[in-house]
Amino acid sequence: MEILKLGGSVVTHKDRPKTPNTEAIRRLASEVAIAGPRKLVVVHGGGSYGHPLAKEYDISAGYSSPRQLAGFSLTHQAMVELNRIVVEAFLDAGIPAVSIAPSSFIVTEDRRIVNVDFSVVSRAVESNIVPVLYGDAVLDSARRFTILSGDQLAARLATDLGATRIVFGVDVDGVYTANPKLVKEARLIEELSLSQMRGMVRIGEALSTDVTGGMLGKINEAGAAVDAGVEVQLVNALKPGVINGALRGEKVPCTWLRR
Ligand code: ADP
Repeated sequence: MEILKLGGSVVTHKDRPKTPNTEAIRRLASEVAIAGPRKLVVVHGGGSYGHPLAKEYDISAGYSSPRQLAGFSLTHQAMVELNRIVVEAFLDAGIPAVSIAPSSFIVTEDRRIVNVDFSVVSRAVESNIVPVLYGDAVLDSARRFTILSGDQLAARLATDLGATRIVFGVDVDGVYTANPKLVKEARLIEELSLSQMRGMVRIGEALSTDVTGGMLGKINEAGAAVDAGVEVQLVNALKPGVINGALRGEKVPCTWLRR
């Protein structure tokens, strides 16, 4: 069983509110379809659907004012909208995709998934159904609500369901020595060990590497799965053919995170 996490930078246009990257979503659905039937769980991010609302209502920090309650709902609804577009594209490509709402069965504890029962997801996979989950606004036992990232969810799913690999599809080829969108000389790192990853994440420990923002969070979340023996591959899902190649085990430009 494998997890395919499609980043918000892939399934949406991040710079325009509530704008799906329909072309990428359709292409990716067909790339998964032509890779052949497999035991797969898909998780997608929020991009321009979830993020602007979560930010506007400060959902991630948890409850501080009554006006956030509608914001919690709006954030979730935006994700439902995006999820529907993704699931329909997978269905059109011939993949038996089924939406599963994370907020309907996950309650975090201070922003982290602690106790969770993924049996609905695993049962779907055993039945050759492809569950499609997403980063979501979820209830939280300490903060009333928060944002559960697709990255945390993907890593935890992989660990709990004993996945062999997580493929993170993002808008860059993998982890670079610096943010490739800002630093022209940034080089792709082909393989990162757990200790190198931990070094990157540790605050104040700059190493020679500059990893920030979404990528840092991704590495941090992926660390737990790598520790549990899951192989993690970061690839560019915006480049046609890369997700198909990765799923088929072909060599593609990427970063491998390994123990
Ligand atoms: P998504 O929302 O698609 O899951 P993010 O946008 O959160 O992904 O994270 C990917 C982004 O992280 C890249 O587009 C890149 O701009 C940024 N980034 C920062 N530092 C690095 C780095 N060292 N290597 C690669 N990407 C990096």
